[in-house]
Amino acid sequence: MANNSDIIIIGGGIIGAATGYYLSRAGCRVRLIEKGYLCSGSTGRCIGGIRQQFTSEGSIKLMLESVGHFSNMKEELGIDVHWHPGGYLFLAHSQEKKEAFLSNISIQQSFGLKDVRWVDAYEAKQVAPGLDAQGLLGGSYCPSDGQAYPFAVVSGYVERIKSYGGSINTFTEVAAILQGGGRVRGVRTAAGAEYQADVVVNAAGPWARDIGQMAGIEVPVEPERHEALITEGVDYLNIPMLVDYRADGGYFQQFRHNGQFIGCYSPVPNVPGHSTDSSYQFLNQMPRRMLKLVPALAPVKVIRQWAGSYENTPDGNPILDRTPLEGFFVAAGMCGHGFMLGPAMGRLAADLILNHGKVPPVAEFALERDYSRQEAMK
Ligand SMILES: Cc1cc2nc3c(=O)[nH]c(=O)nc-3n(C[C@H](O)[C@H](O)[C@H](O)COP(=O)(O)OP(=O)(O)OC[C@H]3O[C@@H](n4cnc5c(N)ncnc54)[C@H](O)[C@@H]3O)c2cc1C
Repeated sequence: MANNSDIIIIGGGIIGAATGYYLSRAGCRVRLIEKGYLCSGSTGRCIGGIRQQFTSEGSIKLMLESVGHFSNMKEELGIDVHWHPGGYLFLAHSQEKKEAFLSNISIQQSFGLKDVRWVDAYEAKQVAPGLDAQGLLGGSYCPSDGQAYPFAVVSGYVERIKSYGGSINTFTEVAAILQGGGRVRGVRTAAGAEYQADVVVNAAGPWARDIGQMAGIEVPVEPERHEALITEGVDYLNIPMLVDYRADGGYFQQFRHNGQFIGCYSPVPNVPGHSTDSSYQFLNQMPRRMLKLVPALAPVKVIRQWAGSYENTPDGNPILDRTPLEGFFVAAGMCGHGFMLGPAMGRLAADLILNHGKVPPVAEFALERDYSRQEAMK
């Protein structure tokens, strides 16, 4: 098999797969290189939540587009990705949170997210049956947010890449970025194989900084461990994804397709690094946090726990840009939102690459930017 392709993508998660799909569809010959199995990084460890409730124009608009892709994926990719618009409900237990959410809602509506709204505690119980509303002032509710199954989405994209003539190399670790004449020329793998291409995309998620360093480019992405668990499947309770930002809160949802509850919380203090070890503390804490919000879950059994990495940038926004090395692009640093951003980010990355990276499509995603403005709904 020839080792030449138009475009090499490093990373077989949602970002690499979606980018590869849109590039293949536009007529490019794509080679996707993944050091493990597809979805072995963060994508296969995420909880499948999809929301449009952000506070920056770039992320809100991208998520409006992504939801459009998810809802059309069965037809577009020919695979059931278990898209279900079950909604997201962000809970406010303090006046400060309430005011922050009200302000976010008006920003979100101004950028086109029309169905997001404030619900008081009574209405919160209507949209989330079984919710314990003790101390609850209300919440930010968006019924068109939803869920999908990450393995199916990536599989759908990858099958399409193959059908367009692209190649997928799994269990193939990139060890060097080849350069020559002031531009990228391809990659060398840990096993010593060389693959040539005029364009190389760094879609390595939590490892994006390491890949950047191979090309001499600083990519400010830091891995941070997040744990998750899943329960047995039970009757569907019609509860949206619940997000409780309190110190002893968490976020969880029920998959529509099999009735399993899946959830996580952000550890305090955070746990930097690539570790994907599971902790007893999480296993002990997470079910209690879920029960506090939905007491009816008491008989539901936890069947598995795991951990994965968020891929954080200093300001909580992704990086999508060309780099000073001609032909070398970065699509990484999704800050724990990469699954939901994936479809639109892949489309945008493909557009950027097809336009030879002339203009970074969204200024707030530029590699060289002021990283001091924080995304508030992290
Ligand atoms: C517990 C948890 C819950 C989450 N929940 C959600 C959620 O509900 N919704 C949401 O949108 N996001 C969620 N996320 C975040 C989401 O999983 C990530 O943002 C997203 O998967 C990032 O996708 P990616 O393609 O950039 O990275 P990855 O999926 O990590 O893909 C990068 C790939 O690059 C490969 N790679 C790295 N180095 C090399 C190399 N040298 N050579 C070849 N291949 C290499 C890796 O093996 C990896 O598979 C969650 C994350 C965690 C950990």
